[in-house]
This record gives sequence, C-alpha cells and structure tokens, in this order.
Amino acid sequence: MRSPHFALLLSAVLTITQGLEARTLVHAGKLIDGRSATAASGKTLVIEGKKIIEVANGHLEPGPDDEVIDLSDSTVLPGLMDMHTHLSSEGNKNSYLERMQLNPGDYAIRSVVYAERTLMSGFTTVRDVGDSYNVTISLRNAINGGWVPGPRIFTAAKSLATTGGHADPSNGRRADLQGDPGPKEGVVNSVGDARKAVRQRYKEGADLIKITATGGVLSLAKNSHNPQFSEEVLAAIIDTANDYGFMVAAHAHGAEGMKRAIRAGVRTIEHGTFMDDEVMQLMNEHGTYYVPTIMAGKWVEAKAKIDGFFPDVVRPKAAAVGPLIAETFRKAYKAGVKIAFGTDTGVSAHGDNAEEFAHMVELGMPAMEAIQSATSVTAELLGIAEDVGTLEAGKFADLIAVDGDPLSDISTLQNVKFVMKEGVVYKDAE
Ligand SMILES: [Zn+2]
Repeated sequence: MRSPHFALLLSAVLTITQGLEARTLVHAGKLIDGRSATAASGKTLVIEGKKIIEVANGHLEPGPDDEVIDLSDSTVLPGLMDMHTHLSSEGNKNSYLERMQLNPGDYAIRSVVYAERTLMSGFTTVRDVGDSYNVTISLRNAINGGWVPGPRIFTAAKSLATTGGHADPSNGRRADLQGDPGPKEGVVNSVGDARKAVRQRYKEGADLIKITATGGVLSLAKNSHNPQFSEEVLAAIIDTANDYGFMVAAHAHGAEGMKRAIRAGVRTIEHGTFMDDEVMQLMNEHGTYYVPTIMAGKWVEAKAKIDGFFPDVVRPKAAAVGPLIAETFRKAYKAGVKIAFGTDTGVSAHGDNAEEFAHMVELGMPAMEAIQSATSVTAELLGIAEDVGTLEAGKFADLIAVDGDPLSDISTLQNVKFVMKEGVVYKDAE
C-alpha cells in the first residue's frame, strides 16, 4: 500500500526538478516589447520551454543549468508578423507562363524555401492570403510538425473570386482551356456557391477566408478596381465564415467594393488603393484593419516600366495603381484607421518583407507604431494576442534581434541577425 510519505516524497522531487528546469536567459541591450511607447534597456528575458516566464530588470546571472544568449549589444523585438504573403510563388517575368507549366509539387517545394527565408528575415508569423493547389495548408502542417523551419502560418489557401474576377484561376486562358471553375476552385456567383466555397475551405483545412472584392492588378483581366461581389453573396460568405470561426480578408482597390465588404463585416481590407473618406470612416466604425502592401505598389510600378515584363492587359493597371497605394497609406494613417503590417510578398521577393517598414516610416508613421503594426496589432487582428505580439511573461518566446536602433533607423529591421520562435533558436549570426 502506498504510504502518505511516498506522495510527499514524489511532490518534493517534482518541485525540485521543476525548480531545476533549464532556462534560457536572453540578455537584451535594448528591448522593444511591442506594447510600450518607448524602448527599455538592460533587460533579461527568462525563457522556459516555449514561453517567456519573466522579463527582469538588469542582466540576470545564470543558474548552473541556464543557458545565456548574449544580445546585450543588440535591440531585441517581438517576432515580426506579415498579414499579406503568398508563400507558394514569387513574381517574375515568367509568372504567367509558370502557371501553365508548374506542378503542385513544384509549388510545394518552392514554398518550403520561401517559408525558411521568411523566418530567417525575422517574420515568425504570417497570413497566407492565396496560394496554388492548397500547398500552404501542407506547408503549415509541416512547419507545425517540425518537418521544416518556417513561420507560424494562418492560411486562406485558395482565394474566392467571381467568374472572370481577380483570382478566377482560368482568367486569360484560351476558351477551350477555361472550363467553368466553381466553388471548389474558388469561384462563386450565388449565395449557394458562396456557402459551399467557404465550407470547402473548411474541409480542406484553411484558417481564414480571402475574397477578391474588386478587380486586381496582376490578373489577366481589364479592370483593376470594379466591385466583383454582390452584397447578397458577400453576406453569405461572412455569415458562413462566422459559422466556422473564419475571419475574412478582402483584397480591394476600388471604393465601392471596399464599402460593400466593410459593411458585410470583413476583418481586413488589403491594398485599399482608391480608399475615400467614406471608406475610412466606415473602417473606423466597423473596426476594420487596413493591410497596406506599399511594397507591392512600388514593385508593380517599377516592373511596369520594363517592356515585356507584364502582359499587355496588366501593364497599364500596374502603372496606374502602383503609385497610389503610398498616398492611400498616408491618408489612412492620418484618419486613424487601424493599420496592420502586410507586404504582398510573393509578388516581391520572399525575405524582403521588412522593406515595408521603411516605406511606412517615410510616409509618416513613427517607427515605434510601424513596429507595433507588425507585432501587437497583428496579434490582435489574428485573435492570438494572448500568445504572441509582445515580449511579456506568458507569451511564446518569438523574438528577433538587430544591431543598432530601429527607432532611429528603421532599415536595421532589414538585417535581422537573431531569430527565436517558440523558444527555439533558428538564426544566430554570431
Ligand atoms: Zn496578394
């Protein structure tokens, strides 16, 4: 028979082993925690397992089993988060041809490489808002299962469009190759289609829904900004998405499409190019986030100047829309719209994501707010603020470090030298 002494002994042993659990002490020179208005200096992040258990003043002396990571000459920040990526591809002059040539396996293998680049550049969480062949669902699972390194992924998998709309996968094809894609392929035209398409994403394992509320720049179709969903269909998408716990992200360039999407209840407006005062007011009323993707605007504007880079139907749209996003960002920031960091990387090159910060600061956003837009604000947007987005006790140990001070030179974020995700070091340049 088990004696009470045995239970006491057991609990004493447990207490001792817990007390001795190896900790990692990160000595931070400067600390930007993602929440405070100013940076702190001389802090220690105490990490046990996947989590931060304490943020202590000064540089704590390690216990016998503790590991020390010395970042005392660096600035430590929360892992960055990008709300608009496409991890299965990357823009180039052969992009349109590749759609006819590449197999699902090609996209899958590339996505593994792009995911690693993303993580190594300091992004520990991303949304993927449109992939090919659902490869980002498998990628997310492979990362979560420890098969390959990469950021924490929330994916929409295949975006939803209307027939001929931005993200109809058969746009621009010769008639006999167009077929008639439906909800399974992400094309919806009725309330029934809309419900079925959302449920199909659920069945496949997506985390959120992406819709293309207006025309777009890179699709092989004429209009970059017309509304493409009726209010009735939008309502069915949001309503069904709510049933399954999905948030809805809306690609939108034109104002009418944005207004319909915001009123219907989307969580984010992506790009937002022709946003007018009424749109901004509606976003503030509904608490809708703006994901600017300034980089994508700059990228298409530059490529539109190169003969033959884009098909003829795309080039004038890229030249017209590209330059406008930057001004929209400036206006939206002044109007107090909630801004969440997002780049549309996958148009531009994976790993360059942090370039967006420089554009945001140049266009009037203070550096600290730009950093928060990619940390605490994005964590709130995703509904995971209890776990990530700030460096505080109880949060996952997702953190990065850079040389110098990003508050005085935001471009330092383009040279991340240290990356930790959930307590595991993925990059340590020293
Ligand atoms: Zn995009």
